Amino acid sequence: MPARAAVPAAADPGSTPVAVLPGVGPALAEALARLGLERVQDLWFHLPLRYEDRTRITPIAELRPGMRAQVAGVVEAVERGFRYRPQLKVALGDDSRQTLLLRFFHFHRAQAELLAPGTRLLCYGEVRLGAAGLEMVHPQYQRLASDAPPTLEALLSPVYPATEGLGQRRLAGVIGKALALLPPEASLELIPPALCAELGLTSLREALLYVHRPPADADLAQLTQGRHPAQRRLAFEELLAQHLSLKRLRAAVRRRHAPALAGDGALRRQLLQALPFRPTGAQRRVAEEVAADLARPRPMLRLVQGDVGSGKTLVAALAALAAVEAGHQVALMAPTELLAGQHLANFRRWLEPLGVAVEWLAGKVQGRARRQALQRVAEGAPVAIGTHALMQEGVAFARLGLVIVDEQHRFGVQQRLALRDKGREGDLVPHQLVLTATPIPRTLAMAAYADLDVSSIDELPPGRTPVRTVAVSNARRAEVIERIRAACAEGRQAYWVCTLIEESEQLRAQAAEVAHAELSAALAGLPVGLVHGRMKPKEKQAAMDAFKAGAIAVLVATTVIEVGVDVPNASLMVIENSERLGLAQLHQLRGRVGRGATASSCVLLYQPPLGQLARERLNVMRETTDGFRIAEKDLELRGPGEVLGTRQTGQLSFRIADLARDAHLLPGVQRVGERLLAEHPRRAQALVERWIGGAARYAHA
Ligand code: ADP
Ligand code: MG
Repeated sequence: MPARAAVPAAADPGSTPVAVLPGVGPALAEALARLGLERVQDLWFHLPLRYEDRTRITPIAELRPGMRAQVAGVVEAVERGFRYRPQLKVALGDDSRQTLLLRFFHFHRAQAELLAPGTRLLCYGEVRLGAAGLEMVHPQYQRLASDAPPTLEALLSPVYPATEGLGQRRLAGVIGKALALLPPEASLELIPPALCAELGLTSLREALLYVHRPPADADLAQLTQGRHPAQRRLAFEELLAQHLSLKRLRAAVRRRHAPALAGDGALRRQLLQALPFRPTGAQRRVAEEVAADLARPRPMLRLVQGDVGSGKTLVAALAALAAVEAGHQVALMAPTELLAGQHLANFRRWLEPLGVAVEWLAGKVQGRARRQALQRVAEGAPVAIGTHALMQEGVAFARLGLVIVDEQHRFGVQQRLALRDKGREGDLVPHQLVLTATPIPRTLAMAAYADLDVSSIDELPPGRTPVRTVAVSNARRAEVIERIRAACAEGRQAYWVCTLIEESEQLRAQAAEVAHAELSAALAGLPVGLVHGRMKPKEKQAAMDAFKAGAIAVLVATTVIEVGVDVPNASLMVIENSERLGLAQLHQLRGRVGRGATASSCVLLYQPPLGQLARERLNVMRETTDGFRIAEKDLELRGPGEVLGTRQTGQLSFRIADLARDAHLLPGVQRVGERLLAEHPRRAQALVERWIGGAARYAHA
């Protein structure tokens, strides 16, 4: 039987198939494969989700709601309810002279009969506070022989990610057999020991044995939070593997060639002279970083992050001109027509006086106009602006040198790669500049964007007065409307934002229409406009234009205005149901005001009562307007998956690392990553294989 074959001493036991383990036949191997466990080392790194403490018995009198505990006691009474659906209630008593209720909703008759009064039970479960006191719902239990003392576990019991047909007990058994094959420290360790010592990292062998088999006296609370040094060691290595895999991806791109775009700077100088303002120091610095990248014959992959209003458009325009000076074409893409249109207006205003034509390739450009624009682009028109459809619909460029993508946070690594490949021409890959208005905490950016260089515009243009923010209960809605009337009487303009999340576009539109009717009635005499996602692009544009021109005093809108709207005279914003929105979105919305010189305010209307999380979010919004701080808070409150957007959650799912908890490890991860790549590339490769698997995650890279 092959399963019995001994592992040859010379082979690397980690990379042998799980079938070498005693007792692992084809059926078990298949169940393990469903969990992605194919090699022995996959079992080493299949880490517990949590632990159960069955090493001791807790007296019922010491139980508290929320605890998970093991109790031993005698069945005092049994009740079977049949009225609506079967339910089995078992009252369990112990020496502490307290009673715990065990409740079962699914049970067999035979099972019920075995739980007769007088039976001794050992139970493990989560304690809840029920109507009749403390209870456990569906605890795990075993019957005890009436006088023998219960056998307690010597170690904490790990709970692993499991799958149907493969329970904890068998999984723990097979993992135990795999651990028996763990090689000695020296051959298991891929991080050079000197670096481990420098960073105070536990040895890998020790860490693995500890997390799979914590001793009875281990600190369960610390383990549950993932803060034990053994877990920290594993999290470090996992983050390192992820970092290395992104680096490798990026190295592959860097080996490709790009046109070196070193223009003479003439167009850029002309633009700066024509501007009514001077660029901020941050804009200047970031523009220089971009220009240096563009001048190299390797593809730039740079993310520019800057708060709303920090002036990313100017940085993009300067990059575009650098490409145009060097005789290449530029494509600028934005996620919505509205935002693309805003870029079009800015670019035409800034570039056309310099003799640089700007083509418009949005979805609404149809027929002859579209054919002509496409032809001009194919013949080498310098700049083309549109939505992402621009790249997807087979637009041909003559000499595409730079792709600018706005609002990066909606895309993941895969999307970035796909876009870049679109623009490929022969052996040359265009440079890529990505703009994001959602600041990402620096630590997170390092982990999420190791394949990109990151520049931050961390300074706002001068003369902006911070937006004053208040949270107001919906009960005071009439006062808020009165305030809008007063502001508009002084010539100011206001946004009224209707938010309905998780509902259909149609319901959102309806809510906006209702609010529009309400405000039109309450503010009789003031022109109130409406813009929502169900309107035709032409109607939306007309409403926006009227608001921009001042013909509309109050604009009722859905969150379509989140991105890209720039009306400096609008200095008041009311956000309905603000308690339902996340920090990133609230911050984006609020960024629509405070763009002119007048002091602006933002009213966060909420529907009481406020939950804890919503209260914290609204407090953050009241306390700060700094996008980076808000992003840090967001990370704290929601976790990295959501901060980065759902698309990236999949790519950042870790077995043990948690970016919010382990962010402090990232500087060390970077340092070790660099050393490994430079001095031990084979070890770096093995680390990626160990944690991520050869082909698995970036198969399309
Ligand atoms: P965002 O980073 O949100 O895209 P924009 O590029 O739209 O910001 O800039 C916001 C506004 O600030 C625009 O009206 C822009 O013309 C203006 N602006 C940009 N840079 C400066 C500057 N250095 N000084 C003054 N105003 C500026
Ligand atoms: Mg912008």
